[in-house]
Amino acid sequence: MKFGTKAIHGGLEPDPTTGAIMTPIYQTSTYVQEGIGVHKGYAYSRSANPTRSALESNIAAIENGQYGACFASGIAAIDCVIKMLNPGDEVISTDDLYGGTYRIFKTIFEKYGIVFHFVNMLDVQNIKNAINENTKLIWVETPTNPMMNIIDVEAAAKIAKEARVMLAVDNTFATPYLQNPLDQGADIVMHSATKYLGGHSDVVMGALVCNDDEIAKEMYRIQNSSGAVTGPMDSFLVLRGIKTLHVRMQRHCENGEKIARWLKTHPKVDKVYWPGLEEHPNHAVAKRQMRGYGGMISFSLKGNRLEDAKKLAVGTKLFALAESLGGVESLIGHPATMTHASIPKEEREKTGIVDSLIRLSVGIEDADDLIADLEGAMD
Ligand SMILES: *Cc1c(COP(=O)(O)O)cnc(C)c1O
Repeated sequence: MKFGTKAIHGGLEPDPTTGAIMTPIYQTSTYVQEGIGVHKGYAYSRSANPTRSALESNIAAIENGQYGACFASGIAAIDCVIKMLNPGDEVISTDDLYGGTYRIFKTIFEKYGIVFHFVNMLDVQNIKNAINENTKLIWVETPTNPMMNIIDVEAAAKIAKEARVMLAVDNTFATPYLQNPLDQGADIVMHSATKYLGGHSDVVMGALVCNDDEIAKEMYRIQNSSGAVTGPMDSFLVLRGIKTLHVRMQRHCENGEKIARWLKTHPKVDKVYWPGLEEHPNHAVAKRQMRGYGGMISFSLKGNRLEDAKKLAVGTKLFALAESLGGVESLIGHPATMTHASIPKEEREKTGIVDSLIRLSVGIEDADDLIADLEGAMD
């Protein structure tokens, strides 16, 4: 089955009780049992709920995985992965990653004795150098947020396999439409479904997908034991969102390309970060591991003045100033003071998140209007 078909039908059946083509919102906490321990596979909605189960199989299908699990947020999905580890275990993470991921690693799990190393994964050799006998997990985000760096998942997977270490990939930015990390050798794929999977800026949700039976057992055990599950209404909304994922992503990619190329020609723009540009340092890897380059773009301004970036961020009319990304509407953000404010300035600047850096989540509006909006704000 090809992607567009899987997005609409993958892992889904008409509702068994009524034939409803859309999975109903099973807004229920519990299920009446015919006898003690005799039920239809559902006993309590923290453990399983039919709307959530349908979404979990659908997300597994589009990621080419066997097992899917949905969580109350992307961060709750990350929380589940780290809870698979024990005190003393070590994690090698990319040094250019979502601020909230950095925060949960550093301020929640470090105090439980899990050790995190942040390395530059543009050279995968740095992963290899950081591995020791306690290393249990490699955490990759690609494209990275907000620098749009591309990490070679296949190369990272090779290193992980040799060292018998688990590899998890945050696939939020690329979405399964553009890349499938499990096919490239990753053990776990993580999503903030809040972003492109939901696609309409109306839900906060996370997801994990894997193929390994043992990892799946742990994933479901922790999902049920920690209890950060997603509700039936939100599950329904994301199920509905995924039905148009391929169509939306096509437009995100087209608009992303038009805007990245336009920004490159603008006299006030210094650097443009979009993996589809030929001069992007990892364009070759992106071309190999992705089927397109998406709608996320970052750029810096000539002179690198904080004031200029702030003026631009509040000067657009269609691009709304907001955190988050991946919805149908375009958003503009200032990573240094918004999404990445929790990362110390020195750490931030080392990875390129300078004061004038602006991040765009290019939506699916008409590209001409979006360009006119940016042009107006730049003036
Ligand atoms: C938003 C995001 C997260 C966190 O997900 P939430 O749904 O906000 O908890 C993790 N990784 C990336 C790349 C994100 O963009």
